[in-house]
Amino acid sequence: MNEPFNALDLSYEEWIDICTTRLALPRYRADQLCQWIYQKKVFNVHEMTNIPKELRERLAYELMILPPVHVTEETSRDGTKKFLWQFYDGVRIETVLLTHGNHTTACLSTQAGCPLNCSFCATGKSGFARNLTAGEITGQLLAMEKRMGTNIANVVFMGMGEPLLNCEALFKVISTLNSPKMRNMGARHITVSTSGIVPGILALADFPLPVRLSVSLHAPNDGLRNKLMPVNKKYPLGPLVDALKIYQKKTGERITVEYIMIRNVNDEPEHAYETAALLSGLGVYINLIPYNPVVDDYQRSNPERVKNFSAALTRMGIENEIRREKGTDINAACGQLRRKEQGN
Ligand code: SAH
Ligand code: SF4
Repeated sequence: MNEPFNALDLSYEEWIDICTTRLALPRYRADQLCQWIYQKKVFNVHEMTNIPKELRERLAYELMILPPVHVTEETSRDGTKKFLWQFYDGVRIETVLLTHGNHTTACLSTQAGCPLNCSFCATGKSGFARNLTAGEITGQLLAMEKRMGTNIANVVFMGMGEPLLNCEALFKVISTLNSPKMRNMGARHITVSTSGIVPGILALADFPLPVRLSVSLHAPNDGLRNKLMPVNKKYPLGPLVDALKIYQKKTGERITVEYIMIRNVNDEPEHAYETAALLSGLGVYINLIPYNPVVDDYQRSNPERVKNFSAALTRMGIENEIRREKGTDINAACGQLRRKEQGN
């Protein structure tokens, strides 16, 4: 199957190039098209009223604008929304929209499934289909904004998949979101979450836009992390922390660390101590996250333990926060909707 040409894959430079060379149009047409798509969320060329009718006819198939196709959505009691989308080849992915007062965050997927197979993650269990293209990633945000009728303030790449295993598309998406002629979103409103792909972290350190970095740690020693996250065998904690140090030296940015609290697995006092030792010398902020039950082997830590873990980290000088769960009643943790639809 050939991938269809999707105008949402184009960078701003590519828009200018296609308009001025292949389509022999003046440059401002590229700006007009981008404005319709990225700012007004109009994807049908025939609705682009400042473009002459004959030109719209010609552009409709020359420049197909293909946001993902909406399959279903669910809304949680706390207002979290989860959308399921489908692409031309039948691949399905999901996107979560979190609302906190008037602060909205889109949690975008970068891959259909994930090849890294973390033992606690529904996405990991559902297997890996393929990388998403830049347009398929940006399209999730635009399609959601169109449905909601508003702009979403923040983007986190924390949906399905490992963003730093799809760096080429990821970096293109970030540039598109940030470009003043396109989505015009500040780099500080964009967060990349990684399971610890060392070359990707180093590439992000060299990337010119100052996006935020979040690392999914979940275990403070290699023995335990190998069990929870097989990616740790390829990129163990030593090299991972070294990469984070390089990232921090280059960017001056504080790094967010995600730590899912799993009962009797990673919530013992020694794990708090090991975490502090591992991360000493790095500027970090740890989010302690309630485990969202997806497999029978694991349960959520009890709240008392989480509180003690948090207090221990604080005493050792590590800033942290106990996060409240979001959207549990609609299975808004990574990968759960897709599993339900597939019936596995
Ligand atoms: N692959 C990247 C980004 C997507 S996963 C990464 O691992 O960082 C997004 C976040 O959801 C990660 O922090 C991941 O560890 C977390 N997550 C996965 N399964 C979860 C579960 N069952 N409960 C709570 N968080 C989970
Ligand atoms: Fe992949 Fe992240 Fe899930 Fe691990 S937690 S399987 S890296 S999506």
